[in-house]
Amino acid sequence: MTLSIDLRSDTVTKPSAAMRDFIANCEVDDDVIDVDPTVGALQELIAELTGKEAAVFMPSGTMTNQIGLRVHCRPGDEFICESGCHIYNYEQGAYASLSGLSPSLVTGNNGILEPDQLLGTIKADNEHFPITKLLCLENTHNRGGGRVQPYENVEQICQWAHENGLKTHLDGARLFNAVAATGISAKEWASHFDTVSICFSKGLGAPVGSALCGTKEQMYYARRHRKAFGGGMRQAGIIAAGALFALQNNVERMTQDHENAQQLASMIKTTDGLSLPGPVDTNIVMMDIDKKVGTAAALTGELDSQGVRCLALGPQRIRLVTHLDVTTEQVSTACGIIIKTVNEVLDGSRELSGSGAQY
Ligand SMILES: *Cc1c(COP(=O)(O)O)cnc(C)c1O
Repeated sequence: MTLSIDLRSDTVTKPSAAMRDFIANCEVDDDVIDVDPTVGALQELIAELTGKEAAVFMPSGTMTNQIGLRVHCRPGDEFICESGCHIYNYEQGAYASLSGLSPSLVTGNNGILEPDQLLGTIKADNEHFPITKLLCLENTHNRGGGRVQPYENVEQICQWAHENGLKTHLDGARLFNAVAATGISAKEWASHFDTVSICFSKGLGAPVGSALCGTKEQMYYARRHRKAFGGGMRQAGIIAAGALFALQNNVERMTQDHENAQQLASMIKTTDGLSLPGPVDTNIVMMDIDKKVGTAAALTGELDSQGVRCLALGPQRIRLVTHLDVTTEQVSTACGIIIKTVNEVLDGSRELSGSGAQY
């Protein structure tokens, strides 16, 4: 079998035999008419884990984020977010096209915002300006390299937001990675936010699905918007079961992914031509490529042809992500291939010719 170590994303995981078994045996019913029992069980569990009254299951994290925005804002309003965040960069500008909102951007350090950066960002009550309604944070921060927002920053930023009449939304696509990295519970992190979005298809390893959590009233409207956004799903227990299994089985093991990420980080630190743009807190590793090696796209293409799959995230930046379908041993193998390739390029015995896609 040809070698394939897939470090492109933690979304590439495939359901295990045990998960498939659990999915095959779950009870289902029509979740649009009322509630599918498996979806109901998942919603109750994730609401409990995040300390919220209720949750609504949706097909994607993009939908939970966009409906989170929609629950808090009306057309013409604006929300404050970090400029590298997923909601702004990777959701096709849906806040504008679907809800008529504008973003107000603040740039953090590898996605980490300091409380004093927010001061002065709420627009005055003046008809020239949109109404600032909402503050969004992302934890862990994807483009920031999986960084965990410092807990005190989250506490202070959300307190400031609430004192100034804003609502708060957490893009917690990888909140359980922050939980694994800090030992601070999902409930504690979530307590500072009005709504929280959780992805089951990232490090948790489910094939599909996300949930939005909040008050019963907010979730009543979230469910209404979900139908209008095309996310009302009938026997959705079939996919919710994978998420339920993931929550029950795959949370504790995430620390293993973080250890594997440290192995990649050490390799990058000690290899000439490679460098780390910031600390590695969880399962995402950003690897900067010196121009003397070549471009990120060229190195990605070359590594791909050798069975190590990763994504170019910028002209000189590659992202490597650990997850439950890569073992410690596979990560060691990948490290060996990366070191050898970069060394050979630098000593002139190998030329980079391929070209991977850039995200
Ligand atoms: C993956 C991701 C999402 C949601 O993505 P979908 O592919 O729509 O499920 C949202 N936020 C962050 C930070 C993510 O990494």
